[in-house]
Amino acid sequence: MKPDGVERGLIGEIVGRLEAKQLGVVAAELRTLDHITAERHYAEHAGKPYFADLIAFITRGPVLVLVVEGPRDTWQVVRTMIGATNPTQAAPGTIRGDLAIEMAENLIHGSDSAESAQREIEIFFPHLA
Ligand code: ATP
Ligand code: MG
Repeated sequence: MKPDGVERGLIGEIVGRLEAKQLGVVAAELRTLDHITAERHYAEHAGKPYFADLIAFITRGPVLVLVVEGPRDTWQVVRTMIGATNPTQAAPGTIRGDLAIEMAENLIHGSDSAESAQREIEIFFPHLA
């Protein structure tokens, strides 16, 4: 969960949605990311015009780093629940569709493949990888 979600007091709402879907929390930590960790996490966006703003945003306050597990295709289940990147296009019923408006402040990140999930778990919870 990104800093806007923590700031807005949406931890319970968003984690509640994941739990209601039957995803189990395996690891959770509230932490403020340093720039090196944030840039490693978002490395695929390095060089993009929005990169500096993205790093400034994701490091501006605590994020809730979560690993959740489910019976299968969990990264895809989570991405479907999160909704489109731009909240103005995110479907109602999704986290971004219901709770966000701005592209920059879209509340939650989700790994976009099993490989990304593995890579990101290694960054944030190396003992789990
Ligand atoms: P995230 O990785 O944060 O879960 P996502 O996978 O839906 O989001 P990505 O394409 O990975 O979308 O972009 C990462 C983040 O960078 C987005 O959440 C958004 O805040 C920002 N971003 C992406 N594309 C743009 C853009 N064209 N203009 C401004 N910001 C952007
Ligand atoms: Mg992404």
